[in-house]
Amino acid sequence: MLLFSDVASVFEEIEKRSGRLEMTDVLATLLVRADAAEIGELIYLLQGIVAPPYLGIDLGVGERFAIAAIASASGYAPGEVEKDYKKSGDLGDTAEALLRKRKQTALSTTEMGVEYVYDAMLRLAKASGPGSQDAKIKHLTELLNNASPIEARYIVRFVLGRLRLGVGDPTILDSLSVAKAGDRSMRESLERAYNVCSDMGYVARTLYTKPETIQSFHVQPFKPLMPALAEREDSPKSIIARLGRCGVEMKYDGFRLQCHKLGEKVELYSRKLERMTDMFPDVVKEARKLKTEGIIFEGEALAYDKKKGRYFPFQQTMHRRRKHGIEEASIEFPLNLFVFDILYLDGADMTGESYRSRRAAIQRIFKGKVLQPSQMKLVRTAKELKVIFDDAVSKGLEGIMAKDLEAHYTAGKRKFAWIKLKKSYGKAVDTIDGVVVGYYLGRGQRAEFEFGGVLVAVFNPDSGKLETVAKCATGFTEDEMVSLRETLEKMKTAKPPPNLEYNIEVDYWVEPKFVVEVAFDDITQSPNHTCAMSEGKGLALRFPRMVKMREDKTIKEITTSDEVRRMFELQRAKS
Ligand code: ATP
Repeated sequence: MLLFSDVASVFEEIEKRSGRLEMTDVLATLLVRADAAEIGELIYLLQGIVAPPYLGIDLGVGERFAIAAIASASGYAPGEVEKDYKKSGDLGDTAEALLRKRKQTALSTTEMGVEYVYDAMLRLAKASGPGSQDAKIKHLTELLNNASPIEARYIVRFVLGRLRLGVGDPTILDSLSVAKAGDRSMRESLERAYNVCSDMGYVARTLYTKPETIQSFHVQPFKPLMPALAEREDSPKSIIARLGRCGVEMKYDGFRLQCHKLGEKVELYSRKLERMTDMFPDVVKEARKLKTEGIIFEGEALAYDKKKGRYFPFQQTMHRRRKHGIEEASIEFPLNLFVFDILYLDGADMTGESYRSRRAAIQRIFKGKVLQPSQMKLVRTAKELKVIFDDAVSKGLEGIMAKDLEAHYTAGKRKFAWIKLKKSYGKAVDTIDGVVVGYYLGRGQRAEFEFGGVLVAVFNPDSGKLETVAKCATGFTEDEMVSLRETLEKMKTAKPPPNLEYNIEVDYWVEPKFVVEVAFDDITQSPNHTCAMSEGKGLALRFPRMVKMREDKTIKEITTSDEVRRMFELQRAKS
């Protein structure tokens, strides 16, 4: 049995390291000691979650609860806990410090194993209904009563969702490989397994019980796949140069849904892999009617405006569903789901099949109106592609998606198997998705709203760091400024995110969670930003402005530094 005290001391060790290789080695020494019964739970603890995201089990513990629990476990008054927190800026540190000077000792203490701590966290997360707030405080207090000061530091950070070890999924995958194979040789198959089930705990359990199956890990209904993502090009010519003959689909600005069906059971997941089944009863009903026993498919859902004879874009589709009630909205604004991929069919994993044969299956299976194949044409030349693109744009669509006929479905990866061409490309305006890492207070006219803009970062998967790319102060409406400031205020932290590389300061740092889409004119080099830094200069967006909040994206899906660098190179090549 792995003791939580061992986990805590490894966490402490990891916090002192900054390089990914070092962290991997330290973490592997911990993973190697876990047995098959506890490895899954240990992995969730490392990821700072209690279950894979699609199960929707959040810890939901606010600072107030944590303060109450620290107070009762340490014997200090809540006011004293808050006072220490004001100084330390981290409730985990406060818990540690106050437990060190504990005014009362617990009557009896249990030695806590990983499973024990995990189960307590799960109970805490699942407590709901009347009295659940007290129950959460009680569970947390019990844990803290049994905890050493160091353990308390991590327990408190964990329940607040601020573990911040700087250990991301890539490091955990590396460490699992090192723990089992002694080197990184299993990394690729572990990563694929994770990408096709989005449940790292499950992958680890499989690795510890049936390691031989990792290599051929299969897609399974009700374990959502991480979505395949598209690269971009800026002209029909460059797309044809890359793909040659290819399939060109309409690019719909809808809501990406992954639909899983087995027998009568149907579940829907969003792009962020959150369960969306209740939001789209119309899609569920149609999926049940399909004449296949088991199927996983993906498509873009769009609401149709009968009066105007056109589709609503994504934001409006969702807004109408929320505002008018789901049932009413599905009658007034019926949905169409344009199916563009199929990932599993009657026991067979389809992700290793070519796009050509997946597409043939789509054409065979989807004949209805609600669920229909996305529009697709085979093209050979840039000229043919341009005709389809112009047609898409004239219909008010975003553009097209060109697809490599021979490519597999690569879950969770951005590949040239799919290439997007949007109407904005080739013009001055392009956008990135970044995460807000800090914000500024208003000055001058803006002082009234106390909001002066945000500092936005992109992700560098090689180093595991967030790198800043823009200070974005325009493009917000007054209402947005007020609501954004309220949202960010709740996410304030005393220190910058631990994995942030930055050269400029902000008024307040925040938890890196909130994803925004930012438009810009072009990309320049600047010593103020750290994106794709080389020779003391990073890449920065010129004239950045806020386009919209991307509530449908998690931080794992933001633009990477490498993509920004590619945009910069495309721009250079053009000029
Ligand atoms: P990305 O998904 O690449 O991170 P994004 O969410 O900002 O980027 P876009 O760059 O506009 O979106 O385009 C990709 C998205 O387009 C896909 O995630 C999918 O939801 C949507 N899409 C629309 N039509 C199609 C189609 N025919 N095939 C694949 N994806 C499509």
